[in-house]
Amino acid sequence: LTIHIAKHAGFCFGVKNAIDMALNSVAKNKRIFTYGNIIHNPHVIRDLEKKGINIIFNIEDVPSGTDIAIVIRSHGAPPEVYDALNNRGVEVIDATCPYVKRIHTKVKAAADENKTVVIIGEKEHPEVTGIKGWAGVNAYVVYSADDVLALPDIKSALVVAQTTTTKQKWDELILLLSQKIEFAEAFMSICSTTEERQEEAVELAKMSDMVVVIGGKESSNTRKLFDICKKHCTSTLHIENIEELAIEKIKGNDIISIVAGASTPDWLIREVYLRMSENEMIPADNNLEQSNIGGEETNAVEAANSDFMKELEKSFVKIRRGQLINGIVVQATEDEAYINIGYKTDGMLTKSEFSIEGNINPSDVLHIGDEIEVEVLTLNDGQGNVLLSKKRSEAKSKWNDFVNDVDNEKVYSCKVNKVVKGGLLAKINGYDTFIPASQVGLRYVEDLTSFEGKEINVSIIDIDKRQKRIVASHKAILINEEKQKTAELWEKFSKGDIIKGTVKRLADFGAFVDIGGIDGLLHIRDISWNNIKHPSEVVHEGDSFDVIVLNTDPEKKRISLGLKQLLPKPWDLAPEKYLVGDIVEGKVVRIVPFGAFVELEPGIDGLIHVSQIATRRLERVEDELRLGDIVTAKVMEVVPSKRKISLSRREILMDEQRASAPKSDEKSRETDDDRYELPPVQETTVTLGDFFPKSDE
Ligand code: SF4
Repeated sequence: LTIHIAKHAGFCFGVKNAIDMALNSVAKNKRIFTYGNIIHNPHVIRDLEKKGINIIFNIEDVPSGTDIAIVIRSHGAPPEVYDALNNRGVEVIDATCPYVKRIHTKVKAAADENKTVVIIGEKEHPEVTGIKGWAGVNAYVVYSADDVLALPDIKSALVVAQTTTTKQKWDELILLLSQKIEFAEAFMSICSTTEERQEEAVELAKMSDMVVVIGGKESSNTRKLFDICKKHCTSTLHIENIEELAIEKIKGNDIISIVAGASTPDWLIREVYLRMSENEMIPADNNLEQSNIGGEETNAVEAANSDFMKELEKSFVKIRRGQLINGIVVQATEDEAYINIGYKTDGMLTKSEFSIEGNINPSDVLHIGDEIEVEVLTLNDGQGNVLLSKKRSEAKSKWNDFVNDVDNEKVYSCKVNKVVKGGLLAKINGYDTFIPASQVGLRYVEDLTSFEGKEINVSIIDIDKRQKRIVASHKAILINEEKQKTAELWEKFSKGDIIKGTVKRLADFGAFVDIGGIDGLLHIRDISWNNIKHPSEVVHEGDSFDVIVLNTDPEKKRISLGLKQLLPKPWDLAPEKYLVGDIVEGKVVRIVPFGAFVELEPGIDGLIHVSQIATRRLERVEDELRLGDIVTAKVMEVVPSKRKISLSRREILMDEQRASAPKSDEKSRETDDDRYELPPVQETTVTLGDFFPKSDE
């Protein structure tokens, strides 16, 4: 059994200060009263009563006179209480906790300026009553969403909290309040001691089989600790005294944590601890005693409690059940060995607990004087023997060695023994290993049966040290293998390489091309020498062709590819394809005031000047040609360097007319040419480069 005691268990600074002030006041030789319970702990109250410090609950019951002293507890009190006490002429010993006092000052300043105050806290709690008193008439207390909803219309308010409010409650209500009112200030007045105590309680509850919360049933902060622990550890007990701790309840738990409220005395915590350890080995020199509170005894109590806490710390690393300890062999026979572990009796090590290797006689291995490590199995086997185990100690150190050696990068081979719901069972180094279904393949594997009996590689992703169970992943290995393959692929490609690729996907800006495990981007501008609006004008999903690697960025996992770079530029071939005098056909793709552009092939347009469109003189190009018309024209001039081809339709029409005209009429007929004196083609001074689309070099 391992018992953890919360570091922040027991009296907080404010409570301790109040008790000290009350005890010190005894020396004044006055009749001392506390106004209300100075602490929500009946044990402490009884001790104080023994010292002559009694409680008064109603201000009317306070006797008058200078021989009376009234202690205001750490919760504080509203101003009318101070007034009433002063009127009675009694001495007021103000033990209000400075943290609470700070809130009083804050809310009083707000009240003096007629500001509204909202207090997050328990309406009936004395600390809240005190704060509300100092906050004046414009003060409201909220502790739930309903309380917030019930608030009247408030323009702006100072918001404070009862010091023992949980952080969660503060956050919840601040959120709700922020939707209803404007904050003049949100003064987060939760006491840091309380916060730390609650945070530690969460941590301990999470790691424990059971939590015992010690403190008065009336104590607000203890009740909150109980609620917090219960949330994280269903087996949580709230006890006020040792009598409420039934040993049967704690049996069977390996890890128990003790948490205590701010009003719980250390001696009570120690008493609970000792009760839990009843059957455990307590250090022989542990002479701690239970004490009470008050006067000289108080000092003794504090000293003893302080010693106790130190001794307690030590006792965790001393001898207890399950603990590993070094001892000296004092006797060894075939059936057992006796080991001196520094305790009042030697420990007994039986043959069955001797070795993980199996049936070995202790006397065959051990010699008197040998030092060995053993685990304490039990402190009393019923006959007063301390039973030890070397086997468990060996198993533990083997396990520890294994755990220390584990790292996420390491690959373990294991055989799948069984397919179970949710995954695979295997063993790594003899330890139970679970491979969740989500960790079996790169994609979720529905049917795991094919893995049964298979040897697979895994890496360890989690270890339950208490249960000695391992969670492993086969998927992590597969991911690593993929990564390695991809890294090798990246090394394979370099700028200028020509490789075969297959179009996997088209996007508006280009095509993703699989080049053997890596997708490269074939940008739209690198697909064709022509201006295309969408990659689908040239390439389609599933198409395979050679591409050139334009750039690689292994860091960003990007590779740019080119297709047009492997193709000739259309204008490079133009001089061979288009000769002066050739008759060509094309589509009218653009009409301008001085002529019509005719696409001869993608990327190559020729111009028919307006004077070369018809045999008659035209006012407008549209009088003869329309966009999309297919026209036949004669090549008049080719200038590749300027990406310029001049065409004439008129020439063809003229040729046709000449061919069809009767020979005798030839001289007498007047042609459009004669009538309009059209300029020769060579005199055309249009700069075609200004109008032809520019193609990429
Ligand atoms: S819990 Fe904090 S505020 Fe309350 S009495 Fe203790 S120290 Fe003071």
